Amino acid sequence: MSFWFRSAYVAFGLTASVCCLFAIVAVSQDEQSYRGEETTGLASGLANGLIISGATAHRIIHFTFDDGPDPRFTPMLLDKLDAVSVKATFFFSASRFRGQDKRNRYAVEIAREALRRGHTIGSHSVDHKRMFRMDQQSVREQLEENDELFQRVFGRRTWLFRPPHGSRSPIVDKMLAERGYTTVLWNIGMADWLSTSAQEVLHTWKRVLERLERETGQRGGVVLLHDTHAWSVDAFDLIYADIMKRNCRLLEQGEELYDVVNDLGFFFAERGQTQPGIFAPAVFLKPAILAARQAHLREDTRYRCVETDSPQTTSDQAFYATKGVSSESSGRM
Ligand SMILES: [Zn+2]
Repeated sequence: MSFWFRSAYVAFGLTASVCCLFAIVAVSQDEQSYRGEETTGLASGLANGLIISGATAHRIIHFTFDDGPDPRFTPMLLDKLDAVSVKATFFFSASRFRGQDKRNRYAVEIAREALRRGHTIGSHSVDHKRMFRMDQQSVREQLEENDELFQRVFGRRTWLFRPPHGSRSPIVDKMLAERGYTTVLWNIGMADWLSTSAQEVLHTWKRVLERLERETGQRGGVVLLHDTHAWSVDAFDLIYADIMKRNCRLLEQGEELYDVVNDLGFFFAERGQTQPGIFAPAVFLKPAILAARQAHLREDTRYRCVETDSPQTTSDQAFYATKGVSSESSGRM
């Protein structure tokens, strides 16, 4: 039972992504303009977009965490993210801010700390109900209370919204668009809430990533995890280490490296005159931007992989020769 449930959930991301690939050719990359407003924090620069699915042909990865803030695990996750200098997006359930008891006050503190540490904050609705069956009045009430609670905690609203379970309807899409929200889905889900260990989540990550590339041509995207489970928070370390290990291999092969990006701006497109409920086009970075980011990554990766990994390759020796350092002395420290 749970296997099928999990498979269906993982498949959701894949199906949504396939749909998005059809939109790739329809909108040129020039239509993705940069607004010059904040793309982290409460993300005003990402207001009123289309629906972000995470679809991308590039090895761009952005981490998102749902359902917190959880007093048991979110603080630990914030430290783990800091340790590797990764900024993520948190979709908080606003009901955690609702009351005045100790637990609620602590949740507010953690949420503000996430913002202070440079992460992006979005909403995951008030009480995590599936929204696709809600009528207009219920959606309105849900969003009004949500905005009020965010205003109370952060002094301003957020512009990003992730419907619980990705559950949407034309009413939900329309009302989110009217309030200026950008809907953020995901294309790399691991059903981590059904797992029991970080290793299991890592295993699913590898499987999903490889299947995504094989079936859709997408090589990266928006990763969904939950900061409400110990194993999910631990899985972040394993997944990040896996990405770093993959980059060592990709560098040797002369391939595009994984780029863990700090905000959702890489996946954002303007809504323009289009109707709500339309998926943003898959990400295509401008060649100059991609080349600059990859050059920086390659240099970083070269140092890291030489320090921690296998024997140096000929290209590594050539690299150190250009830096005027002997390859013997430049290895492990
Ligand atoms: Zn959720």
